[in-house]
Amino acid sequence: MATTEPCIFCRIVAGDAPCDRVYEDELTLAFMDLFPVGEGHLLVIPKQHHQDIFEADEASLLAVMAISRRIAHALKTALEPDGIGVHQLNGAAAGQTVFHYHMHLIPRNQGDPIALHGRKRGEPAEMEAIAARIRAVLDREG
Ligand code: 5GP
Ligand code: ZN
Repeated sequence: MATTEPCIFCRIVAGDAPCDRVYEDELTLAFMDLFPVGEGHLLVIPKQHHQDIFEADEASLLAVMAISRRIAHALKTALEPDGIGVHQLNGAAAGQTVFHYHMHLIPRNQGDPIALHGRKRGEPAEMEAIAARIRAVLDREG
């Protein structure tokens, strides 16, 4: 019998798949990207499943943006990058690969290539350590 698998980000929200969690509240969850483009690459998602910007309700989009702003400040403090890319893709043609709305936050340094997808899986211990550093700043700065 065919079953409909929930999407990977819904499984993470439900606690059925692991993630390096950075932040969580009623509406949103932020965690490290499994295939980081660089140090500190993370994702902010609404807990509710929406495929993309066209399906998502305004409250979810606003919540994700507000938390992205807070986490961008924390990334700046924790990692001191030269810049931070905030990216969001809608539809396979735009490069979207996970069809649960999400925002990428990607710290970048001068000269880093502009890429949205990493080629190899992040080192688990490194991702855990970076998540802890970002969480510590969020705890401190709110
Ligand atoms: P998109 O291409 O849809 O904008 O980005 C999806 C992102 O999700 C990619 O950067 C990819 O590395 C990340 N990703 C895919 N599966 C998982 C997963 O199971 N856990 C985490 N933490 N990230 C994932
Ligand atoms: Zn989902």
